[in-house]
Amino acid sequence: MENNPLNFKPNELFLITGPCAVESEHQLRAILTNENRPTLIRGGIHKMRTNAKSFQGLGIEGLELIKKLKGEFTFDFITEVTDPRQIETLLPVTSVFQVGARNMYNYELLKELSRYNRPVILKRAFSATIAEWLGAAEYLFNLGEKNIILCERGIRSFDNKLRNLLDLGSVIYLKKNTPFKILVDPSHSMGLTQYVADAAYAAVAAGADGLMVEIHPEPAVALSDGQQALNISQFDEMITKLKKLAPVFEKELRL
Ligand code: PEP
Ligand code: MN
Repeated sequence: MENNPLNFKPNELFLITGPCAVESEHQLRAILTNENRPTLIRGGIHKMRTNAKSFQGLGIEGLELIKKLKGEFTFDFITEVTDPRQIETLLPVTSVFQVGARNMYNYELLKELSRYNRPVILKRAFSATIAEWLGAAEYLFNLGEKNIILCERGIRSFDNKLRNLLDLGSVIYLKKNTPFKILVDPSHSMGLTQYVADAAYAAVAAGADGLMVEIHPEPAVALSDGQQALNISQFDEMITKLKKLAPVFEKELRL
């Protein structure tokens, strides 16, 4: 059975924004009290770090923090699930589960997620072909097409100037050939703050239904991915432009 908990409308450009990782109450409050207050907030609680010594996320403590803030602010929370054993504990605070690039091929995780009535964002693995990505999405089939959101987050290429290669061709292809919502993550694609907003605008032109953008009130002290986070004023500037750009593509920005 299909539900549509986030009530996505066909002509809206939705924005999922927040820090790479949930770090502190202070950090989230700065985002939640901003004039451009996002209603779909992302934030890693269980992080999949390439280096085992890097910050791994707050875990249960982060979950409690989200619960507390939900008592005060209205927002939907989106977080990555890295192991099927986390699903039950994340369920009460998570509106949408995120499967990270490193787990796109984790079919057991996908099968388990398909048993819950919650939308799933399926990020593209570093070197997945579009066919492999859609193959992974098949494991979520039970959720119904409205609850499967594919996220282009850049792929590996021979180039090393940017973190990844933002494949906007995939966005154009998927919009024309699949029924799924297509999300673009310009933050992990570009990897550096100064390029993120421009990549977001390009994604809108390519037909993306939504954008996932990492922000942080103080990127310099972020515990993960600070080099690609927008600060609050850079975020506000991007919002101003997106509000103007969205109607050009017959969309309306949903904050
Ligand atoms: C993230 O969104 O924080 C993340 C880890 O992204 P990816 O899985 O695309 O690397
Ligand atoms: Mn990140």
